[in-house]
This record gives sequence, structure tokens and C-alpha cells, in this order.
Amino acid sequence: MNIFKIALFGSQGSGKGTQAKMLSEKYNLPILATGDIFRKEIKNETDLGKLVSSLIKDGKLVPDEITVKIVLRELCGEKYKNGFILDGFPRNIAQSNELEKENGLTHVFELEIGDEEVKRRLSDRRICSKCGAIYSLTVKPSKQESICDSCDGALILREDDKPEAIQKRLNIYRKETKPVLNFYKEKGKVVKVDGAQSIEKVFEDICKAIEK
Ligand SMILES: [Zn+2]
Repeated sequence: MNIFKIALFGSQGSGKGTQAKMLSEKYNLPILATGDIFRKEIKNETDLGKLVSSLIKDGKLVPDEITVKIVLRELCGEKYKNGFILDGFPRNIAQSNELEKENGLTHVFELEIGDEEVKRRLSDRRICSKCGAIYSLTVKPSKQESICDSCDGALILREDDKPEAIQKRLNIYRKETKPVLNFYKEKGKVVKVDGAQSIEKVFEDICKAIEK
């Protein structure tokens, strides 16, 4: 049996989350998102959870060695023994090194998408100011312009989805992920996929690379 240990990289708007979900269903792989694990540790009031929650309260970042510890421990769980999909991890070389030592990845996917396409995709998004429902002006418009179908709330463009804010986030994303992707490129594990294609085509490309 093949064991797939996958990490997905892609900026916001690249469709990374959607692809992770589709992969998880097709290959029956659990998705490990660091944010979820943090929340679980905090909820269960573990020692690490308490530490993480006090750091977040103080507005501090969770240090590398703690994030790595939490993720690697989680990966020892029974549900990950036949593979997994990582979302949002590893974020830097230190984390990548630790992960490779204990639980080497088999595939690292880089969903490539141009800045302009990301801006186009995100500025298309509208969110209900009352219930949080998500719409898209082109793909999933509300029945009545600027009004939520389910609660009549006003639909707004989030500050985060405005072009200037998007550009800032894209710059940070590129700067952060570049070294990690280079690290995995040297190991020959990176597969580049054109993220500007349709969801189905992106998925097809990823599956082809996995089954090769
Ligand atoms: Zn609503």
C-alpha cells in the first residue's frame, strides 16, 4: 500500500483548502491544520495548550519548537499512520528539518497563481455582515444584489480582501514560503501545479502526480 504524506502550499485564493478537502476524500487521508491542533490542545487544557493560549493572549507568536512538538506528537496518532495532508505546516526551515527527521513528506505541492488572479478572485468575494455566509459576484451571487439570501444582512467586501491588503499578504506569503519550498526542491519533492486553472483541472494534476 502506498502511503502519501502531503503538504500543500498556495497563497490565499489559490484554492488550497478546497484541494486539501478533495484529496482527503479521494485518498481517505486526514488533514492536519496547525490552527485546529492548537485549538484542540487549548480546549483539552493540556500543558502545551495552556502555554499556547497564554502566548496568544499576550499577542505573541507560538515559537517554532512548540509548534513542531505539537504537530509531531499529533502525527504519532493512529489516524495518521497511513498518511496525511498538512495545511499551514511547515512554515520555515527549522520546522521542515524537524518534520523530515521524524516523518518525511512524500509530496509537496506548490499551487502557483499570479497576484492579479488572486486579487481578481478575492475582490469577487462578498461576506454577509450578519451571518458570515460567503458569496461570489460571478460564481455564486446572492439573489438580490448586496443582500444575503438567508438572513437579509448586507453583503460586504472584507478589508482583508481589498487589493492593497491582498498584495501585502501575498508578499508575506511569498517571503515566508520561498525558503521552505527551496528546501523541498533540493530534495526533489516539489510538484508545481498551475493554480489558475479550474478546481477540477488542478485536482486532476495533483492526483496524476500522486499516482505516478
Ligand atoms: Zn446572512
